[in-house]
Amino acid sequence: MSLFGFGRKKPPSAAERLASGRWQCAKCDEWHSWPFDIAAIVPDPWRGERVFEPNGALRLDGDFLSEDFCVMGGEYFMVRAVLPIPVNGVEGDFFFGCWTTLSRANFDIYTAGFDSGEYADMGPWTGWLMNRPADFIEGKDPLPIWVEPQPNRQRPHLWVRDDDEPLAVAQSEGISPERMLEIFAYYGHGVEG
Ligand SMILES: [Zn+2]
Repeated sequence: MSLFGFGRKKPPSAAERLASGRWQCAKCDEWHSWPFDIAAIVPDPWRGERVFEPNGALRLDGDFLSEDFCVMGGEYFMVRAVLPIPVNGVEGDFFFGCWTTLSRANFDIYTAGFDSGEYADMGPWTGWLMNRPADFIEGKDPLPIWVEPQPNRQRPHLWVRDDDEPLAVAQSEGISPERMLEIFAYYGHGVEG
């Protein structure tokens, strides 16, 4: 009989920690719970103040930022969306909150339907990903994506178009719970211990 390990339980696996639904953060000391989403507050190219105006104040010339819409120089039109990534063995997707560009025509469709959650065209639309989630993206150029509007006032879903991109592989094959915890740690919300 070994004294070592007698009566000791194996520490919970990453999947068990996520599936347990709650973990104490290694950094911010709060309790987080699954699903725990991480979001970029603004598009990476945004250089203005990080102060949100109401959506209703939307201006199409110059610069504008709200929680859902962003216009830069009256020329670039962006919306806040989410990029789903399944986590293998854990229920529910992880959502990266990211911004995407839209064509002016699709931006108009999106903003016109935003309050009702019903859009004249349900896409998918094309866009450029305006954030770099965790350490997924190696190149410098923004990734081309599909933007899929959602019913019921949910944020649009984003899908990386180039199947070879690590982020596209993560979206189609899912990531391991260990990788998920690494991503939380990347953002300073890792699991204690
Ligand atoms: Zn935290």
